[in-house]
Amino acid sequence: MNKKKADKFSKEFIIADGHIDLPYRLYKEGLLYEKNINLNYETKGNFDIPKAEKGGLNCPFMAIYIPSEKLEEEAYDFANDLIDLVRNLIKSNEKFSSAYSPKDVIKNFKNNQISLPMGIENGSAIGTNIDNLTYFFNRGIRYITLTHAKNNQICDSSYDKEKKWSGLSDFGKSLVRKMNDIGMMIDVSHISDDAFLDIMMITNKPVIASHSSPRVLTPGFERNLSDKMIELISKNKGVILINFGSSFVNSKSNKLFSQINKIAEKWRVKKKLKKNSEELEKYKDSLINKLNPFAELEDVLDAIDHVNNLVGDNFIGFGSDYDGLGNSLPKNLKDVSAYINLIEGLIKRGYSKESIEKICYKNFFRVWNANLQNHQI
Ligand SMILES: [Zn+2]
Repeated sequence: MNKKKADKFSKEFIIADGHIDLPYRLYKEGLLYEKNINLNYETKGNFDIPKAEKGGLNCPFMAIYIPSEKLEEEAYDFANDLIDLVRNLIKSNEKFSSAYSPKDVIKNFKNNQISLPMGIENGSAIGTNIDNLTYFFNRGIRYITLTHAKNNQICDSSYDKEKKWSGLSDFGKSLVRKMNDIGMMIDVSHISDDAFLDIMMITNKPVIASHSSPRVLTPGFERNLSDKMIELISKNKGVILINFGSSFVNSKSNKLFSQINKIAEKWRVKKKLKKNSEELEKYKDSLINKLNPFAELEDVLDAIDHVNNLVGDNFIGFGSDYDGLGNSLPKNLKDVSAYINLIEGLIKRGYSKESIEKICYKNFFRVWNANLQNHQI
């Protein structure tokens, strides 16, 4: 009964996801400059057209992910290359269309098309030239995650132990103002708590957290959002797009995965292997099989419940991080065909049709539209 209802909702509603790492996955597969990338068949990754159709996914934001070691020109060039890759994807698969606003997504949805909007994950691509912001907006980028694993020229990172700016740099402050002016959404995932607070003092538009979960589920994990931050996002009328990763929604999984990563890293150094070696992946998988660190679908539902109980259902959406988490997704949420399981879980927990529709796309689109309103470009 619930399954049928979930299936119906998944077809009736747009399903938007704030963060899918498909471009970087395809880069890792050696397809960066490939003109024709066919995704009309089942791939080994978390995302392809058959899986997206099964799950009812219509609006996956493509993360233009820039690794922290790439700086200035290299970061700028890499962002351009990944944007070109997304454009090639759209050209080579009839099912895909570009989208620069919620209006575009709705139009594509009516035409049975999957939209591929884009966000840049790591503001290092902007360098120190603020005009690059408008340049990337004109290339179709609609949000920027200000940093990634390390502090950068804009702000501090949640993952970096030594903070450089105690929040936003002066350049970061001007950038945030300019983002507001031109209609580029500010993504607060990955940044430090102080950087977050600085943004909240400055921004006059609602923000997104493109792939973060509540910190209360993973105490001490600064990459997730504290209750105070969740409350501030709700006051700002922003949206928290829930990260599905096991380490983001379950404290035991978080500890086990960080243990696995530490053991694997030691082993890699001993074996003198490269960071992206296949042998390392196999070794990691063997540890994963032994320790069974996976979270459950219920943990992701708990993450949604927590935000709902704290601030209500107007500030929740999906930001799975599919194709960016390797072998660490919860059971029954392994790829983009699984949104139906999540919707079924929400129905079972008593969420109304109206609530589920908000979570699937309406909340996120409210924020996106608010950013595009009165923008000067
Ligand atoms: Zn990320």
